[in-house]
Amino acid sequence: MTRCLAVFHEGRRLPDGSAPFGGNSLQHGTAVFEGIRGYSGVAGPALFRLDDHLARLLSSARLLGIDHPYDLAELRSHVLTAAASHQGDVYVRPVLLTLDTVLGVDLRALPFTLVTGLWPAPGRDVRPTGAARLTVSPWRRPSATSFPVRAKATGAYANSALARTAAVRAGFDDAVQLDPDSGRVAEATVANVFVVRDGRIRTPWLADSVLAGITRASVLDLAGGLGLPAEEGPVTVEDLRAADEVFLTGTAAEIVPVGAVDDVVYGARPVCEALVEAFRRAVTGATDHGWLTPVRAG
Ligand code: PMP
Repeated sequence: MTRCLAVFHEGRRLPDGSAPFGGNSLQHGTAVFEGIRGYSGVAGPALFRLDDHLARLLSSARLLGIDHPYDLAELRSHVLTAAASHQGDVYVRPVLLTLDTVLGVDLRALPFTLVTGLWPAPGRDVRPTGAARLTVSPWRRPSATSFPVRAKATGAYANSALARTAAVRAGFDDAVQLDPDSGRVAEATVANVFVVRDGRIRTPWLADSVLAGITRASVLDLAGGLGLPAEEGPVTVEDLRAADEVFLTGTAAEIVPVGAVDDVVYGARPVCEALVEAFRRAVTGATDHGWLTPVRAG
């Protein structure tokens, strides 16, 4: 067991145990996490699809082989306590990590603990304020044969950061990443992708290297409620380029219309706009889908 002896910030030694540098999760990307939105809805503050996010957190931990002491009820209670400390719309990030400075990649040697961070979230108006300009990234998603792509693990985000940074340096807002094996569209760097063609909505199926996004699932559901045909399936780069509309979904992004992918520019977006409106009603509790967990100050 090789623990860190001391940690310095610039020339200053940090108190023993503070270990912002030395934690194993930071060294090796061995943490799993979630991003959850809290909305000040019509019936008071509530977290959107809390149990679905926490179930995914538990699943991510299992997929990585992380042992920890929490069950769903304990996670729920800790996250609700953290969320209740903030008034207004919020972005909540629970992380299962190890601050232990033990070196090595055998996760069995490491104690994992829950740390929850809060960020102020943008207002509840999720109407598009602008359309994103995307490029198809040369950096593909990790292969499911190299990494459990369904796990939301910090280490995997080095790949997202690489693709996003290269895209932004080239003047785009974000990148579409492809599945490494099939070469089909997988997802954007931190969001799922949808295409609309002749009124039919499609998002890449989970057979490709895609995170099972909770906003993605919500949008598929909401489309059904609006009577819009929506399905998961293979999406090629050609499908993306031939689409009438393209949009992204994610907890932080909510639903973001895409204005262009490389040289292809998209026009009117009636389907995306209908979904944005349905989503806004769902997250604020104007329509009831059983997706909101009330947050009460303790
Ligand atoms: N793909 C990736 C790689 C992501 O990081 C996210 C954000 N969690 C998503 C998709 C969207 O997932 P969700 O709707 O659950 O936030």
